[in-house]
Amino acid sequence: MSLGSGRCHYHPERSGLGICVECRNVICSECTTQFEGINRCAKCLAARLEKVRKLVARNDWSAGGVLLALLSLAVLYAGFYGLAGIFSR
Ligand SMILES: [Zn+2]
Ligand SMILES: [Zn+2]
Repeated sequence: MSLGSGRCHYHPERSGLGICVECRNVICSECTTQFEGINRCAKCLAARLEKVRKLVARNDWSAGGVLLALLSLAVLYAGFYGLAGIFSR
């Protein structure tokens, strides 16, 4: 398999080692990053990490929202049964 020009896309003075799966640019050993077992250039890895970070942040928020809904429901029930207990006495 040929690596095209054989030069790193970001460092023209360096010989390429691999190809980024995202942008298909030839990258040198310094630019090659292994994330999830896949070769990416540093730029595409940063973009990938940003996506993952946003996804995690969104999941955290929805999990917090569900917890808050359950908590308010529990407070509502506790209040209802508390009042019922007072009036049945
Ligand atoms: Zn890339
Ligand atoms: Zn490079």
